[in-house]
Amino acid sequence: MQVGVTDIMLSIRDLRVHYGAAQALFGVDLEVRRGETVALVGANGAGKSSLLKAVMGLIRPSGGAILLDGREVTGSSPAAMAALGVALVPEGREMFGDLTVRENLELGALVLKPGRAELARRLEEVCARFPKLRERLSQRTATLSGGEQQMVAIGRALMARPRLLLMDEPSLGLAPLITDEIFDIIHQLSRSGVTILLVEQNAARGLTASGSAYLLANGRITGQGRSQKLLVDPELRRAFLGAASGNNPAASRLGAAGLTNIRLEKEMTTHKTFMPPFRTVEELQAHQLRGLKWTVRHAYEGSSFYREQLDRAGVTPDDIRTLDDLRKLPLTTPEDLRDGYPFPFRAVPYEQIVRIHASSGTTGKRKILGYTQKDLDDWAHFFARCYEMAGVTPLDRVQISVGYGVWTAGAGFQAGVEKLGALAMPVGPGNIDLQCEFFLDLQPTVFCCTASMGLLMAEEIHKRGIADKINIRKVIYGSERSSVSMRKKIADLFGGVELFDIVGMTELYGPGTGIECPHHDCIHYWADYYILEILDPETLAPLPDGEWGEMVVTTLAKEAAPLLRYRTHDITRIIPDPCTCGAVLPRHSRIRGRTDDMFKFRGVNIYPAGIDRLLSEVPGLGSEYQVHLRRDQAGRDHMLLKVERGEGVEARRADELRREVIYLIKHRLMVTPEVEVVAYGDLPRSERKSQRVFDIRITDSVV
Ligand code: ZN
Repeated sequence: MQVGVTDIMLSIRDLRVHYGAAQALFGVDLEVRRGETVALVGANGAGKSSLLKAVMGLIRPSGGAILLDGREVTGSSPAAMAALGVALVPEGREMFGDLTVRENLELGALVLKPGRAELARRLEEVCARFPKLRERLSQRTATLSGGEQQMVAIGRALMARPRLLLMDEPSLGLAPLITDEIFDIIHQLSRSGVTILLVEQNAARGLTASGSAYLLANGRITGQGRSQKLLVDPELRRAFLGAASGNNPAASRLGAAGLTNIRLEKEMTTHKTFMPPFRTVEELQAHQLRGLKWTVRHAYEGSSFYREQLDRAGVTPDDIRTLDDLRKLPLTTPEDLRDGYPFPFRAVPYEQIVRIHASSGTTGKRKILGYTQKDLDDWAHFFARCYEMAGVTPLDRVQISVGYGVWTAGAGFQAGVEKLGALAMPVGPGNIDLQCEFFLDLQPTVFCCTASMGLLMAEEIHKRGIADKINIRKVIYGSERSSVSMRKKIADLFGGVELFDIVGMTELYGPGTGIECPHHDCIHYWADYYILEILDPETLAPLPDGEWGEMVVTTLAKEAAPLLRYRTHDITRIIPDPCTCGAVLPRHSRIRGRTDDMFKFRGVNIYPAGIDRLLSEVPGLGSEYQVHLRRDQAGRDHMLLKVERGEGVEARRADELRREVIYLIKHRLMVTPEVEVVAYGDLPRSERKSQRVFDIRITDSVV
């Protein structure tokens, strides 16, 4: 018999199994693709073990077919199946207690009759995977703990170097901590490319460890699909919980097995999605118009700053009738935030504000933004959407290594994880040892960081040689420009992770206002929370989709500090075509730069205007200067500041001027530049705004 699709390793068709007159399986169909881990989940007595035994040749099916690599193997002997590369880790482990660990392990390769050297090589491989067993090789197996015996059982199966590993209830009877350890091993096997069919009654465990799953009840398949989808399927969850609550849920095996644990009881895990309900652009636009009308009225009535702006422009809230009327609104700028410091955009009474955040401003004054409870709820909601778009589920563990404090980063990442119902690990930036310790001991699956922190950790993981001992599958990074080579390096050194670029800014809630989808083509942004316009930064005229210009945002639901046509000074473009992922949410490119030349240097936002001001404090300096940014081989950034001596200032004063500039920059901007003092008139002048910042740190930027 032939199978059309070659990547299917195991194919089971209409499988029936009888024990005497009792039927255990009623026409089961199941497929396992090469390299995939498939879970077969069901309660005790559902027929799971019967299926594995039938595949392994331990029982003879009464009907149907079993195909391995497209070849029918129904009814083959266990020895024949072993020779074909199939190995079983049986339920209850079935150890020979009187034999030593070594003897039990060697039994696993027996049927293949390997030579002595080959046997030793395989034993070494298994010991490398289970260091605990190496110490116990000559011990009687019966003296081992349950967890160690399970390792022997898995090790015994691995001695045959199976292509298809059948695992029957590997966690049965083990303490939760030991179960974790066993499942870590399963994760590692799966990552190393072994094809696994895993039978589990602990649905949460089985689904977490697998790519796809089948649900078995009373000998029949009752559901199947991608495991991550099934995990959050409320109906499935109810069905399983219903089954468990028939008796005492806590005491039932299903309950004890994890389906009734507190985590799955979190309210939010029953949410199917954080995506907006819109199917069409028209529906989205209708929602935007409602939000725009509300926002303009709210800002007008709540904020004297906005009222003044709108009055001056001759616009009233009633003038907003279509989305195009957005253009009637005056633009606002970061400078407005500075001039009205601390809180010009505030549109609700202080009593309604439950939190503030702040970020650095253009002239040293901070931008302070406030949030009502609803603002925080909205932010958490669309941040959870970011995670959802990146494929993060409530079963993930998320190590958050961005900054916590008055700025928005950590707080946003944290709230999103909690809203999603996943496990948050708020480590914060730096602290490499702690990051690695948690990678190893808590096995997080998602890592959130800045691009440079991601690179730093990737290199550290490589240096420590722990890539195969950690379980990070996704890296969500933001707040900095990144390059193609940087992304590739992070992905590789982490052991093959998927990267997701996330965007955001303090004025617009914080991080999480958009993210790349699994198709990895630009950033989807949350057009149900804000309208994005792209304007020509010189003429301020709107630019057509696809053209680069300044990003201008208008919020649609923000209460405490709404934004009306706020100029971000970030340069991006709107991608005109819908994404191949099918999401209705539109896309913009990654941020390509700043209209005001702001740059980030070693984590600090630096504005040329700030440097300007500092240099003007040094007598003997001219007004011209250039900033050159480069990155060395080790990935360290360097800033070279070229300044001119003032007209008529003698060359011998250059060194003194140099030291003074370094001192000022160091103490005011908290970064240390290299400084070169050149003669008056050496730096180029231009009638238009001269280019001051030369940033060659990233040459293959992702946009
Ligand atoms: Zn997409």
